[in-house]
Amino acid sequence: MDLSFVTELSAPRSRDDLPAPEPGTAYLAGGTWLYSEPQPTVTRLVDLTTLDWPAITVHDDGLELAATCTIENLCNAPLPAEWTATNLFRPCAESLVASWKIWHTATVGGNLALALPAGAMITLCCALDAELLIWTADGGERRVPVNRFVTGAGRTVLGDGDLIRSIHLPAAALRGRTSLRKIAYSPLGRSGALLAGRVDADGFALTVTASTVRPFVLRFPAVPGSDALSESLSERISPDDYLTDAHGAADWRRHVTGVLAEEIRRELE
Ligand SMILES: Cc1cc2nc3c(=O)[nH]c(=O)nc-3n(C[C@H](O)[C@H](O)[C@H](O)COP(=O)(O)OP(=O)(O)OC[C@H]3O[C@@H](n4cnc5c(N)ncnc54)[C@H](O)[C@@H]3O)c2cc1C
Repeated sequence: MDLSFVTELSAPRSRDDLPAPEPGTAYLAGGTWLYSEPQPTVTRLVDLTTLDWPAITVHDDGLELAATCTIENLCNAPLPAEWTATNLFRPCAESLVASWKIWHTATVGGNLALALPAGAMITLCCALDAELLIWTADGGERRVPVNRFVTGAGRTVLGDGDLIRSIHLPAAALRGRTSLRKIAYSPLGRSGALLAGRVDADGFALTVTASTVRPFVLRFPAVPGSDALSESLSERISPDDYLTDAHGAADWRRHVTGVLAEEIRRELE
């Protein structure tokens, strides 16, 4: 779709080239959402792809993804075999409504910044204890765990002009065993609930997304029993935290969250 109100396109080559924040500016990554609907408030695009960040870097302490790493790159990256939790990458991508044609340009950072409840890159990053490096508009930077980055449906901690630079997935989490469950009203539909579990030397972590307005990560010293998991879900996630929209009613989402959590618990027990 043409963005009729855009009058300026900036193509920075380095951080120094980034224009000063002003109203009407949007960062352009893959553009799969930006160009999918009218953007009457956007008058200037700042293309992040011209910064030419390396998409994927393997470090001793984990994996660094540039915010502009495409979902296709993520799914096809050759990665160390001991990072067993990378088996979550493709199923998370497949749980998006977006098909593999969209993965070709859609970025991980764009998915996080959009903060849709069905943002499966959010699920993935929460499940693997990812931390974001944010370039702040005042020229500084800060790090935020992904589970604290999304604060509500379509809401994040990004201030005006802040941008996600990269995502760090720690090696300890990448060595974990994982399990993923999705449910939607139709087989290829937008997620009504998307849950991921991970078990490693530090214990068990359950990530709840898509059914709730923001991600929730529940941690236990070891895989809990069925009752303990169910009680924890009730204590940590209130009925008001469940979402009602075209992809599911809150009471249904709350119910299926419990069912999928128990399936994950049994698989990782
Ligand atoms: C058919 C279809 C199906 C889709 N299905 C899903 C789905 O199931 N779940 C889902 O979550 N999304 C879905 N999307 C939306 C979108 O494709 C994905 O969320 C995608 O990952 C967005 O990435 P992008 O690089 O294309 O973002 P863009 O469209 O370039 O940007 C999206 C938003 O994020 C901001 N942004 C981008 N990068 C950064 C950054 N590094 N720092 C700060 N802000 C940034 C942009 O300014 C913009 O506001 C779908 C889209 C289509 C067209």
